[in-house]
Amino acid sequence: MTEHAVVIAGGGPTGLMLAAELALSGVDVVIVERRENQNRPGGRAGGLHSRTIEVLDQRGVAERFLTQGKLMQVAGFALIPLDISDFPTRHNYGLALSQEGIERVLAAWVDELKVPSYRGLEVTGFAQDETGVDVALSDGRSLRAKYLVGCDGGRSLVRKQAGIDFPGWDASISYLIAEVAMTEEPPLGFRPNERGINALRKLEDGRRVGAVLNEPLVRQRDQPTLDDLREALIAAYGTDFGVHDVTYLSRFSDMARQAACYRARRVLLAGDSAHVHAPTGGQGLNIGVQDAVNLGWKLAQVVSGTSPESLLDSYQAERHPIAARVLKLTMAQTALMRGDERTKALHERMSELLKLDEPRKQYGAMMSGLDVHYDLGAGHPLLGRRMPDLELVTETGPRRVFTRLHGARPALLNLGAPGALDVASAPWADRVQPIDARYSGVWELPVLGAVAAPMGVLIRPDGHVAWVGDGTDQGLRDALDTWLGGHRR
Ligand SMILES: Cc1cc2nc3c(=O)[nH]c(=O)nc-3n(C[C@H](O)[C@H](O)[C@H](O)COP(=O)(O)OP(=O)(O)OC[C@H]3O[C@@H](n4cnc5c(N)ncnc54)[C@H](O)[C@@H]3O)c2cc1C
Repeated sequence: MTEHAVVIAGGGPTGLMLAAELALSGVDVVIVERRENQNRPGGRAGGLHSRTIEVLDQRGVAERFLTQGKLMQVAGFALIPLDISDFPTRHNYGLALSQEGIERVLAAWVDELKVPSYRGLEVTGFAQDETGVDVALSDGRSLRAKYLVGCDGGRSLVRKQAGIDFPGWDASISYLIAEVAMTEEPPLGFRPNERGINALRKLEDGRRVGAVLNEPLVRQRDQPTLDDLREALIAAYGTDFGVHDVTYLSRFSDMARQAACYRARRVLLAGDSAHVHAPTGGQGLNIGVQDAVNLGWKLAQVVSGTSPESLLDSYQAERHPIAARVLKLTMAQTALMRGDERTKALHERMSELLKLDEPRKQYGAMMSGLDVHYDLGAGHPLLGRRMPDLELVTETGPRRVFTRLHGARPALLNLGAPGALDVASAPWADRVQPIDARYSGVWELPVLGAVAAPMGVLIRPDGHVAWVGDGTDQGLRDALDTWLGGHRR
C-alpha cells in the first residue's frame, strides 16, 4: 500500500490550493481526481474576489492569474454593483476569469511543486484508525495517509462516508445553464421574472448562445433534457427561439447546506464538500480557496508533529462561521432577485442604500472577502484580521509584507528597536521568520479605516494577524505557542 502524509480527494480549486499549501510546507501530499484534466465544459465560476487575489499574492502567484483574466469591479449584492476601487488594498478590484482558467493556473503551479496526482480515478471509500486512514481507489488500489481531506465537491463521498450531517435549506428555485444554438435571434441580457433572473449572452464565437434560465418548477439532481430547456425558455420569453445543438446543459439550485463539522478525527472537509449555496455573488470557489489557505499550514504543522491535533479545531472555529454567513447572504440575494413588483421595489430601495458610502463599504468588504475577521480575542483591531501588504523599509531595502509569506511560513514583524522581539532562543526560532523593519505610513483597514500603528505583529502563514505588540512582548509567547506549537522552556 502506498503511503502519503495527506490524501486529498478532489482536484478542483479547493483541492489544488490545499495541495499547493501543503507542498510549500514540505508535506508529502497526493491528489486523487476523477477528471482526467481541468476541463470544465459550460463554465461555473467567473472569477476571483479581492481577498482571494491577495492570498495568491501572499504565495507570489497572483500575477499568473491576473495576466490570464480581466481586472474588473466584480463585487456585487443581488446584482447591485459594489465598487471597491477606493479600498486600502493593492488589489482593489476582482478578476474576471473562468473557473477552467483558474483551475489550469492552479494545476500548473501544483505540478511545479511536484505534487503527484492520480487522475481519472475516484476515492470510493475509506477506513480510519488511531494512526491513519486507508483510502480505497476505483482501480482497486489503496493509499495509506495520516489525514484524508475531502475536497470532492457538494456531493462529497468523503463527507457522507464520514457520517457528517449536512443540514440546511432545500432549493426554492432551480436554474438551467446551457450552451446552445438558436434559429431565431434572442434578446440578450437579463430578464427577471417573478421567480428570479434569466440571462442570455453571446458566446465567444459570436453566434452560439449561453443561457441561464430559472425553471417553472423546482427540480434537482436529475440530468436536465432539451425539453426542460424549451419549457424554461417558453416560460421566460414566450418562445424557445428554435433552440438546438445543445453542447452543454446542467442544472443548479439555491439549496444551502453546510457540514455540521469540518472534521471527523483524521478526515477533514474543505470547499463545496463543506458548504453549498446559490452561485449569486460569486462566493463558492473563493471561500473554498480560502478554506484551503486556512487549513493547509495547520495540517502541515500537525502532520510534522510541531503542533498538537487540537490546532485543527481552529480550522472549524474560524471557517465555519464564514461559510454560514455566505449561506445566509446567498439566501437573501435569491429572495431579492425575484422579479415580482414588490420585490423589484425592494431591490430598488436596496440599490439606493448600497450606493451610500458606509453600506457600500460594508457590503463591498463582505462580498470581496476583505472583512474576514477570525475571533482571536479582544485587542488591537488588526488581531484576527488580514495583514495589509505594506511596503516596509528593511536593512536590505524596501520589501512588501506579502513577499515574506511566499513560503507559507509565519513572520514576526518588529517595528521597534532592531532585535526588540527576540525569538532566537525560543523553540520557535526555526519556525518563524523575524523581520526588523520600519514603516511610517498609515495603517488602514477596509471598512474600519485608520488604526493605531503597532510596534510588532505576528503574521500567520495565511496572512492573518495572531498577535499585535505595543512595544513590549507581552502575550507573544502565548501566541507563538498557540499558533506555531512547541514547548515552553
Ligand atoms: C453556475 C455556477 C456558477 C458559479 N459561479 C461562481 C462564481 O462566480 N464564483 C465563485 O466563487 N463560485 C462560483 N460557483 C461555485 C464554484 O463553482 C464552486 O464553489 C467551486 O467549484 C468549489 O470548488 P471545490 O474544489 O470545493 O469543488 P469542485 O469544484 O466541485 O471540485 C471537486 C472535485 O472533486 C472531484 N471529485 C468528486 N468526487 C470525487 C471522488 N470521489 N474521487 C475523486 N475525485 C472526486 C471532482 O471531479 C471535482 O474536480 C459557481 C457554481 C455554479 C454551479
